[in-house]
Amino acid sequence: MVNSAGTVVVLLGSPGVGKGTQGVRLGRELGWAHVSTGDLLRAARRAGTPLGHEAQRYMDAGELVPDDVIIDLVREHLGGMDPGRGVVFDGFPRTVAQAEALDGVLAGEGRAVNATALLEAPEPVLFRRISGRRSSPGGRVYNVYFDPPERDGFCDDTGEPLIHRADDQPETVRTRLAVFREATAPLIGYYESRGLLVRVAAEGHIDQVYAALLAAVGE
Ligand code: AMP
Repeated sequence: MVNSAGTVVVLLGSPGVGKGTQGVRLGRELGWAHVSTGDLLRAARRAGTPLGHEAQRYMDAGELVPDDVIIDLVREHLGGMDPGRGVVFDGFPRTVAQAEALDGVLAGEGRAVNATALLEAPEPVLFRRISGRRSSPGGRVYNVYFDPPERDGFCDDTGEPLIHRADDQPETVRTRLAVFREATAPLIGYYESRGLLVRVAAEGHIDQVYAALLAAVGE
């Protein structure tokens, strides 16, 4: 894929596996659009739109937002984009119905998913990565297991109390991991049977994972 115009890559993987970090970097370095439905939903929540309001209770509970809502959101978002530009999807599709809808939308633009990278790491690691996350109001992110602040519960820079997001609470994280296994893992077979799935070990250093991801998507 030397000429990557219009290439479509899907990042698949459990919550906490690093799809966001890797997706942002892939987009930035290849000049592709990075489309994260989680980010689009969080932006809608911050803007206080009806969509944001509807999504909130699902997100806080760690459940999936209904397929029709997500599919409309993605369709609208893609509609405003240049189909000649590469795109990396992160956190979408999350169900077989969403994957089928994506195939339909892309077909309408004369393109298709070119590769799906399945990022993999053991569930206990993912559980600690997400449930241990704390952030300062200024945006600095800590992890109580891997990167704790000096004083428990407070930002090293500003002394402000750290925030533990509703969807990062242990019970909600358990739900999110279970939702991946039940609703999203069937996509592994969906893309594998189409010859599009590449597995990427995602437990190591961010740079190593990125290199493996680039190789996996043929860049
Ligand atoms: P993420 O940042 O990708 O982990 O998404 C955060 C939350 O947004 C998820 O736990 C879901 O509640 C919701 N969400 C994001 N993307 C989707 C999607 N493709 N389908 C359904 N719900 C989604």
